[in-house]
Amino acid sequence: MQEGLYLRDCYLKEFDAIIENVKDEKYIILDKTAFYPVSGGQPHDTGNIVCNDQEYNIVFVGKFDGKISHEIDKEGLKEGDKVRCIINWNRRYKLMRMHTAAHILDSVIHNESGAMFTGNQLGEDKSRLDFNLEKFDREKMKSYIEKANEEINKNKDVKITFMPKDEAEKLSMLLDWDYGDMKELRVIEIEGIDKQPCGGTHVKNTSEIKRIEFVSVENKGQGRKRLYFKLSE
Ligand SMILES: [Zn+2]
Repeated sequence: MQEGLYLRDCYLKEFDAIIENVKDEKYIILDKTAFYPVSGGQPHDTGNIVCNDQEYNIVFVGKFDGKISHEIDKEGLKEGDKVRCIINWNRRYKLMRMHTAAHILDSVIHNESGAMFTGNQLGEDKSRLDFNLEKFDREKMKSYIEKANEEINKNKDVKITFMPKDEAEKLSMLLDWDYGDMKELRVIEIEGIDKQPCGGTHVKNTSEIKRIEFVSVENKGQGRKRLYFKLSE
């Protein structure tokens, strides 16, 4: 199982690595990587691999058989190459802000309404949260967002810890989520606001989020509601 460097350091933007394997000329496995593979509702990173003054664009990152695989846009890299890797920080940082904002919203909505979460999809421009509420109204949703913004304004630190799986699972607000057979889970704690298992990338302090804005709410059928939100710059 390959552990991404982003698990312990979400702010690592550039790093050196050695190519461990190349498949079909365009799927690259590195000896270590900080590129985030698509998972848990957070989109994959993009960026570049530089080798001998040649630049290769990373167009997709996924985790397969426990290894993080980087899909590049052209041929030329080979096993053993020493490479410089650069993450598209603009995209990643937006997703980090979105992810931490989503945790704060999860927590506020759960505490205020008792809702559990059934899914989420983060995006650079807007994100969505799905939860199991029978009833909701726009004004209530807006008031939850205001509460979340009050929490953001407290400039709280966001901490990364690791915990035994059974202990960490109790903190989850996700319905029927399978955390697999790992012994330890990574836990994201937003001081005094939220604590839950998560493998995603997060900002260090809530002040970096700035402000959550309401976009829309959708009724997705009985007991299924969807909230769209964005962040102000
Ligand atoms: Zn998360």
